[in-house]
Amino acid sequence: MALGEFDLIAKYFSRPTPGAVLGVGDDCALLQPAAGMQWAVSSDMLVEGRHFLATVPPDRLGHKALAVNLSDLAACGARPLAFTLALALPRIDEAFVAGLAQGLFALADQHGIELVGGDTTAGPLNLCITVMGEVPPGQALRRDGARAGDALWVSHPAGGGLGDARLALEIFRGHLSLPAEDFEAVRRAMELPQPRVALGLALRGLASAAIDLSDGLIGDLGHVLRRSGVGAEIEVDRLPISPILARRPRPQQLQCALAGGDDYELLFSAPADAEAAVLAAAVAAGVAVSRIGRIEAAPGLRLRDAKGAELTLALQGFDHFSEAAAA
Ligand code: ADP
Ligand code: MG
Repeated sequence: MALGEFDLIAKYFSRPTPGAVLGVGDDCALLQPAAGMQWAVSSDMLVEGRHFLATVPPDRLGHKALAVNLSDLAACGARPLAFTLALALPRIDEAFVAGLAQGLFALADQHGIELVGGDTTAGPLNLCITVMGEVPPGQALRRDGARAGDALWVSHPAGGGLGDARLALEIFRGHLSLPAEDFEAVRRAMELPQPRVALGLALRGLASAAIDLSDGLIGDLGHVLRRSGVGAEIEVDRLPISPILARRPRPQQLQCALAGGDDYELLFSAPADAEAAVLAAAVAAGVAVSRIGRIEAAPGLRLRDAKGAELTLALQGFDHFSEAAAA
């Protein structure tokens, strides 16, 4: 082994932490919350084979491990401050660790968040990050605030949409193929998600409820509906779909956009009369948003087309990428 555990930490994971009282190197990091602020804290673990494929370049893995955590802070409208990294490595591969650190810190620097501690051990490749952010009391965006009559919105890349990450996954699974350029684009969506931190901050005081999309829109919306005690209607023709996904058969488009997973966009509700303010918040945050439906009093989720006809898509039980469906 070229480098011991402590040398590895010193070389790759010890950086100045001006925002912390004490960073990496002691038994604990010491953080001083700003007067009157609340902590927003969240952890997300990435396990090889389950949350990422062995084919992911290490810098993209570092990016994604932090991105999925920042996405949780975004969904709460919290400002990122500090994070810890618990890392299990099968072996000390310096090129791998250097790449991982590079992707991790590039994104950390974009969001002004500091690595203040962690743990490093031998074991099957696994990364667990805990993020800490701050939010003024009472202003966190939560899952339980959606009200009947609110509009339902989702963020997405300008000119893009939901579901591209799922398309990439299906290519890696060998279920479909795309031209090289399209494959690179959807692979970026899967491996380099952009956490919508600025949008989350801009939606404080505006959104009635919010969640980030990690498991697919239908599943994640279900959490909001249950916590808020409401139902919703989605107009499927309003779902943002990228030009690449738009070239796939419509059932695949809907499966990717509604049940794809790994989008890391914000799904949120806001009072119907707040449309102009929501659009202004999105412009200020530099991200696109689409109004895709509304919150209703009746429990459950209804999907409608542009003519108002209800769609009965059995998305959970029907795999639009199975061999039979492709044939
Ligand atoms: P302890 O045994 O007291 O828990 P460790 O020996 O595990 O401490 O870690 C030494 C220091 O290095 C601690 O400050 C810890 O937070 C930090 N650290 C360990 N692994 C990482 C990592 N992957 N990233 C950042 N800091 C780390
Ligand atoms: Mg200790």
